[in-house]
Parts: sequence; C-alpha cells; structure tokens
Amino acid sequence: MTSFAPTIIELAYFISALCFIIGLRRMSTPSKARSGIWVAGIGMFLAIGATFLHPDVINRFSLILVAMCIGVLIALIPARRVPLTKMPQMIALYNGLGGGAAAGIAAVELLRVTQHGPSIKLLAFTGALIGSIAFSGSILAWARLSGRVVNPHRFANRQIVYVSMLAAVLMLGFVLIFSNTAHPILLLLFFICSLVFGSVMTLPIAAADLPVLISLYNALAGLAVALEGVVFNNPAMIVAGTLVFAAGALLTRLMARSVNRRLSEIMYSGFGLSHVEQESRTAKSPVNEVEAFDAAVSMAYAENVVIVPGYGMAIAQAQHKVQELTQLLEERGVNVRFAIHPVAGRMPGHMNVLLAEAGVSYEKIVDLSEINGDFNKVDVALVIGASDIVNLAARSDERSPLHGMPILNVDEAGSVIVLKRGDGVGYGYAGVENPLLQHSKTKVLHGDAKASVQDLIGAVKSLD
Ligand code: NDP
Repeated sequence: MTSFAPTIIELAYFISALCFIIGLRRMSTPSKARSGIWVAGIGMFLAIGATFLHPDVINRFSLILVAMCIGVLIALIPARRVPLTKMPQMIALYNGLGGGAAAGIAAVELLRVTQHGPSIKLLAFTGALIGSIAFSGSILAWARLSGRVVNPHRFANRQIVYVSMLAAVLMLGFVLIFSNTAHPILLLLFFICSLVFGSVMTLPIAAADLPVLISLYNALAGLAVALEGVVFNNPAMIVAGTLVFAAGALLTRLMARSVNRRLSEIMYSGFGLSHVEQESRTAKSPVNEVEAFDAAVSMAYAENVVIVPGYGMAIAQAQHKVQELTQLLEERGVNVRFAIHPVAGRMPGHMNVLLAEAGVSYEKIVDLSEINGDFNKVDVALVIGASDIVNLAARSDERSPLHGMPILNVDEAGSVIVLKRGDGVGYGYAGVENPLLQHSKTKVLHGDAKASVQDLIGAVKSLD
C-alpha cells in the first residue's frame, strides 16, 4: 500500500458520507427520489472501494470478493424478479439483514478480547444486541407480511418473559465485556437469547401496529451499524448508520402518531389485540351492490371525487387504470384528489410510490390529516381495495384491533363506492369486519380492482 492510501481512504469515506446525506435529502422529494438512490448507491460503491484499500483488508481480498459475489447473486435475482406487490416484505427482510450484518461484525470483535478495552466491547455488545433484535424481528415481520405467519400470537405474562430475557442477555453481556478471555459458548448463548428476544417481541404485534414496528427495526438496524462503525472507527459506517437510525426513528414516531399509538403501548401493553380476532368469518351479511355504469355516472356528474387507494389496488396493479379514470373525470370538470392513509398498503409510502409510478401529480395526493376535514364537501369517495384504513370500527368498537387508529372519514362524503374482490364484509389486513360496507351511503362494486376500474372507464366514455 502506498503512503497516499490512508488519505485516499479517508477522502473516499468523507465523499461517500456526503453522498449518503445528499441521497437521503433527495429521497424526501418524490421527483428527485430516483436520483437520490443513485447518489446514495455511488456513496456505497465508494465506501466499499475504499475499504478494499485498507491494510487489514488487503490480504483477505479473495475471501471478501467471494462473499460479496454470493451476496450479490442471492440479492440480485429476487430483486429483479420481485413484483411491486411483494416489495414490502422484501424491504422488511433487507432491513433485518443490515442488523444481522452489524451483529455478525460485533461477534467477531467480541471474540478479539485482547484487542479492545471494555468501552469498545460495550459498544460492540450494544450493537450486537440491537442488531440481533432487528434481524430476528424483521424476519418475523417478513413472515407476517408474506403470509407465512398469519396471526399475531400473544402469550400470558409476556412482560415478565421480556424482562427475564433482557436480564439474561445483560448478564451474559457483562461477562463478555469484562472478561479477558474469549467465551465462544457464552457468545453463542447471547446471540440465541437476543434472536429469540427479537422474535417474541414481534409475535404479539397486531395488524395496525406492524408498520410502526417495521420502521422501528429499520431504525435499530441503522443504530447497530453506527455503533459497529464506532468500534471500527469507520466514518462511512457511522454516517450511514446514523442517517438510517435518524430517518427510521422519525418515521417510527410519525407512523405511531398516525395510528394513534404510543410505542410503549405497541410493544408491551397488548393494546390493539382482542378477542375480536377470533370472530368467525361465517356471517355474510348483505351489502348494497352497484353496477359499474351507475357508479361511473355518480362520479362523472360529481363536483368533487376523492379516491382512497389501499392494498387491493397494489395487488390488482390498478394504478395506471386509476390514473386513466382520473384524467377522464377531470376532462369532464370533476375535481379528483387522492386521500392517502399513512399505513395504507404494506409499506410506508406504498400508495405514493404506486401513484407516482402511474403519473398521478403530487398536488392531487393529500394526507389523512389534510383531507379528513374535507370529506363533508366530497360528493363521491371511491375506495379502491382498502379496508382497515376506512374501517369504521376503529372509531367506535373498543374490542377492534384497529380501535384508536385514525381512519379516512369517507362516510362523511355524499356517497361511497367500494371496489373489492371478495364478497366478505371486510377482512383487510386486521382480519375484521368493516361496518363501512354496510353503511347506508356505501355501494360495493365487486371484482378485481383493475377490471372494475376498466369497467368504470368504459362507462364514463360511453357517457360522451
Ligand atoms: P387492507 O389489507 O386492510 O384491505 C385490502 C382490501 O383490498 C381488502 O378489503 C380486500 O378485500 C381488497 N382486495 C384485495 N385484493 C383485491 C383486488 N385484487 N381487487 C380489489 N380489491 C382487493 O388494506 P389497507 O390498505 O386498507 O390497510 C393496510 C393494512 O396493512 C393496515 O392494517 C396496516 O396496518 C397494515 N400494514 C401496513 C404496512 C405499511 O407500512 N403500510 C405494513 C404492514 C401492515 P377482498 O379480499 O375481499 O377483495
């Protein structure tokens, strides 16, 4: 290695840190988000390149390259094939892998007992604990989102179980930090306990709360990376981890507020889960059905229409058709807006991404807090594949797992048209009935959302 190498490495880390900051800044504006991802990617490329120049790494080139190739292959193939509908679970999984990688780094450092003092070992231990919890919790969130584990599972005295597990993990940590000999068995035990701890914390979390938890794990994975960055004295890791942590922590706060929960309630109190979940789905009460033509007429002659997209729109990939319908209505002088609930779909910003992809202009997209006061001025609310975010039980039924979560007040509009595929009376992600479907103002247009919107387009065109 030349004598310039340390300066080049430091400079590259500095530039990559700048790229991360600029990239994140650009990601906060939808029109600049794509370029933001490129800038952050260049930063990551620089950071990896600089790491290869490091004296500790230079001799292990081949091993690292093999590991990277395996990782790239495993990630690239599913990443290219994953449909947009499965993106949320993939993001949950990759979040977790960041935490897992940080925990793996910490494991190596905790075995190098003679090279670090207690303060550095304390940082490595904290990163290992947080990273393992983020890893196993995210894996379970991925399993929940992909339907592999369907129901939340709540067990008796779980607060006691949490405290006991935490105490066990901290005791193991004490030995690992202050001992001058390596304890691989204790380290293994520590990782097993931490991973189990992350899983048992995630298992009981109910429907509306899962998005909050996913973003919390995202923040924790960032924190774990930042802590390991301090252990390694690696500025790129510190900056990248801190940015992920800060962004994840802010998002967690925002999401928790939007579902009207405190984080402590979500994690420990059992809030939001009740015997309603055991309710049978046998009762198939009637709903008022509507034909596509009648639904189209009511929108085509309306002044104000608000479209409420939900997870069903993503499943049906109906966003392009929705944009076509919007343009047709606007050509007729109808004012069309989109109401976005913060937890609509299966990942933060899910609906914004889909609508942006379809070319819906940002000015038409309105948040829950802005639109809720306006629904009484809306003639028609068109709910496309959404259930939990418009579930009236959230307002009034204390036994509902959604109780307390603010919903979009579509029932205050003149009339409500719901597009849904199945003939049940609700059963969104929370798996409960939705009284909106039997509300006097509501009419249901059954069928796959994309086909139904296509029918609405045909009907609006036939009015010309
Ligand atoms: P929901 O999952 O509650 O409802 C989706 C609705 O779409 C159902 O009524 C379903 O009914 C209908 N549907 C499904 N497929 C189609 C289709 N092809 N065509 C037409 N309709 C269809 O979605 P929401 O967006 O209302 O709520 C999101 C839920 O997901 C919340 O509970 C939230 O907490 C949770 N969640 C959100 C995350 C996030 O970050 N945003 C992450 C994890 C969970 P049917 O099958 O009868 O047609």
